[in-house]
Amino acid sequence: MEFKTIIEPFKIHSVAPIAMTTEAQREKFIAEVGYNLFSLESDNVLIDLLTDSGTGAMSRNQWAAIQHGDESYAGSPSWLLFKAAVQNLFPYKHVIPTHQGRAAEKILFTAIGGEGKLIPSNTHFDTTRANIEYSKAEAVDLVIAEGRDPSSLHPFKGNMDLVALEKFINETGVENIPVVMMTITNNSGGGQPVSLENLKGVSAICKKYKIPFFLDACRFAENAWFIREREAGQGDRDVVDIIREIAGLADGMTMSAKKDPLGNIGGWLALNDDDLAGICRNLLILTEGFPTYGGLAGRDLEALAVGLTEVVSHDYLKYRIQSTAYLGNALSKMGIPVVLPIGGHAVYIDAKALLPHIPALQYPGQALAVELYKVGGIRGCEIGTVMFGRKPDGTEVPAAMELVRLAIPRRTYTQSHIDYVIEVCAEVLKRAPKLGGYKITQEPPALRHFTAAFAPL
Ligand SMILES: *Cc1c(COP(=O)(O)O)cnc(C)c1O
Repeated sequence: MEFKTIIEPFKIHSVAPIAMTTEAQREKFIAEVGYNLFSLESDNVLIDLLTDSGTGAMSRNQWAAIQHGDESYAGSPSWLLFKAAVQNLFPYKHVIPTHQGRAAEKILFTAIGGEGKLIPSNTHFDTTRANIEYSKAEAVDLVIAEGRDPSSLHPFKGNMDLVALEKFINETGVENIPVVMMTITNNSGGGQPVSLENLKGVSAICKKYKIPFFLDACRFAENAWFIREREAGQGDRDVVDIIREIAGLADGMTMSAKKDPLGNIGGWLALNDDDLAGICRNLLILTEGFPTYGGLAGRDLEALAVGLTEVVSHDYLKYRIQSTAYLGNALSKMGIPVVLPIGGHAVYIDAKALLPHIPALQYPGQALAVELYKVGGIRGCEIGTVMFGRKPDGTEVPAAMELVRLAIPRRTYTQSHIDYVIEVCAEVLKRAPKLGGYKITQEPPALRHFTAAFAPL
């Protein structure tokens, strides 16, 4: 018998309190911080869906591993456990630990980026793009057309457009492309997965032109689960097997351990090329630390080693993907427009469709995010004109989409928390026609969404 309630495949071992607040209190809190959700104190948030990065709960075995951590500067046994756990899934010759994903990106692109270089991906994550551009190289997104259409039901909306990739290589010249990247799952594109077939296609093109192929593998386990669920002939495989096959298609990877490795901090760069690894290790020593700890404590390395064994559990992944879909499908059913199909780690509400009366330059995503907070203490993240609208020349242009992302921290909230979120969303849906827009009263020159102040119109 298959029951429809998704029970969390864990029981609670240690708890953190959620402070209850009223709508009147929250109206005051959000006004005090200029209607910017990043500026709120998290104690004034009931359900925090700002990000799934480093916000998950560790298991008792991970906490035990923290105690077991060895803080030797060089050659710690915690490092050996970490390295073995990474190589068990991703058998690359060199593993280089870092304090988080962007540090791995900085090292990689310092080594292989630079002026005149172009780096294609399905969609670069924002820190990846920023690190490529900081090296003076250019980041290019070549996701399939369906990946840009919020209503397309394509099962692998994170796929690379293989025809466009080959055309791009021929036009750009192999010598100008130091690496091809693939983000799995495609975070910026809505947490959408990439198929095994597409990864094989990218790998074959890279081999043909002798260009290294790297994964931005932050959500590798969620992606492998989608492959098992959705791709023909994959349904009987163990996800570990799928992950190893994916790893074998590429020459290396960058990683944020704040995502699928179930850590609160950490990352790594892994690769096969001996010469490049040597260059990267020297850069690591300059900015992160000795190669057997990177930017991490021994205890962190050990907690990650355990997290890597837990994230590949089929019970965990089934719960993870189903519970994200549970929220997204409930919102969709009540008439809230969301990006479909529901991705792995987050639900994206289409604020442009929900609030068509608010023009893009009055920030419908911000209006929706503020209302979710006021009504129910839920903190989401605007991904629209506030985040992307300000151009380097100072002009303001509407973003392609006006989204509010509700990211689900791993193993942190229960189904009753999510039922509460669904109820709050139903109330916001009722109020939607009456919501007004916002203006920006103060903003920094770049990355304004983190610190800008707003006022209601
Ligand atoms: C989070 C993330 C990164 C950056 O990792 P940090 O640990 O936040 O520095 C890179 N790529 C993707 C796809 C991510 O989701």
